[in-house]
Amino acid sequence: MASDCLFCRIAARELPARIVFENERIVAFEDIHPQAPAHVQLIPRKHIASTLTVAAEDQSLVGELVRTAAELARQIGFADDGFRLVFNTNAAAGQTVFHLHLHLLGGRMFRWPPG
Ligand code: AMP
Ligand code: ZN
Repeated sequence: MASDCLFCRIAARELPARIVFENERIVAFEDIHPQAPAHVQLIPRKHIASTLTVAAEDQSLVGELVRTAAELARQIGFADDGFRLVFNTNAAAGQTVFHLHLHLLGGRMFRWPPG
């Protein structure tokens, strides 16, 4: 764990968050500034800075983030309507937290291309 990393500290429960799912490898919690009726962040407990530093050994972890996001979409109830999964990477995409996180957004219509 990186002690200066916001999301490591949320995963360690050192900082508060509304956790909606967790297991030994990943944690999912509500975004503090939701951009949709449902906006959940899914993170590995392992500190990985971004998609650019996902190692070969982390591939199943990233797959687990995607599968868990899809399961949460089913549980929350917008899987059939549709939803969006996003990994922002570096400045041009607006990444502000440098601990890998998968945005799960649902509950409204989304435009394409995104802004
Ligand atoms: P990104 O711009 O892709 O790096 O996304 C970072 C996300 O983390 C944003 O959607 C923020 O609203 C969210 N965020 C920042 N701090 C917190 C926090 N303490 N608890 C929950 N979500 C947070
Ligand atoms: Zn971290």
